[in-house]
Amino acid sequence: MDTKTLLGRLPARAAIAAPCKVCATESPLFDVCDFAKNCEQRRDPALGLPLAGVPIYYHRCPNCGFIFTTAFDGLDDAEMGALIYNDDYIRYDPDFVEARPRQIARMVRDMVGDALLARLSVLDYGGGSGKARDLLREAGGRKVECFDPYFQSTVPESRFDLLLCFEVMEHARQPRRTVADLRGMLNPSGMIIFSTLLQPSDIAEQGAHWWYLGPRNGHVSAFTGKSLRELFALEGLDVLHGSDGMHVALTRPRPDFVDLGRSPGGAAELGFRLP
Ligand SMILES: [Zn+2]
Repeated sequence: MDTKTLLGRLPARAAIAAPCKVCATESPLFDVCDFAKNCEQRRDPALGLPLAGVPIYYHRCPNCGFIFTTAFDGLDDAEMGALIYNDDYIRYDPDFVEARPRQIARMVRDMVGDALLARLSVLDYGGGSGKARDLLREAGGRKVECFDPYFQSTVPESRFDLLLCFEVMEHARQPRRTVADLRGMLNPSGMIIFSTLLQPSDIAEQGAHWWYLGPRNGHVSAFTGKSLRELFALEGLDVLHGSDGMHVALTRPRPDFVDLGRSPGGAAELGFRLP
């Protein structure tokens, strides 16, 4: 199905309120932008043009602060693939193929350490064509797999100690389902390392001008710390924030390869050990 036809199927208007996709609180409209808006416009303003003439409305939850759109809810995954994750997608997310997988592999090796990495089963969820998986295998990872709903249709049969989930959550049209899927791929005790950029403190002023809200590159959801914690708690997972962009989710009981200490300031500090 071509892009023009799919754009024609997006709703021309939005409901003035919709249930929050995290906590179900009735959430009023927040702001609107054109479908063509994308995250790479920061580097190349011309990428936001021409405008598509299709408004994408975002809602914001008064309870958990989650920002979301219902504009794409009528499309199935194949249609989203054709509209968003098509041959042009790389123009709007140029780091997807090479730079980000290298960053991911480096960071995971630094965090976890190669000795532990060799013993854990690891799944890179949303890992595209599998570049980060290949790099982690080269680094000695013996049980590293990759799954991406837009690249491979085969859902892995086994469960994993460690899930990597980089730049995925902001693409989730149904975040509860995404987290339930993640939980289903995780061992009873395990851990998810994931990234998604939390909203800035002046989000009310920035509105849909905030650079990270980009319908064209599939950024349909934007989290606060509270909304992430509420979302993962639905699946019995505790979220710790390493920064505005990096987070981990831990099962209860904690995986035996994770050390959770307390820093003098009271924040939990994450460490790793060989079980
Ligand atoms: Zn909410």
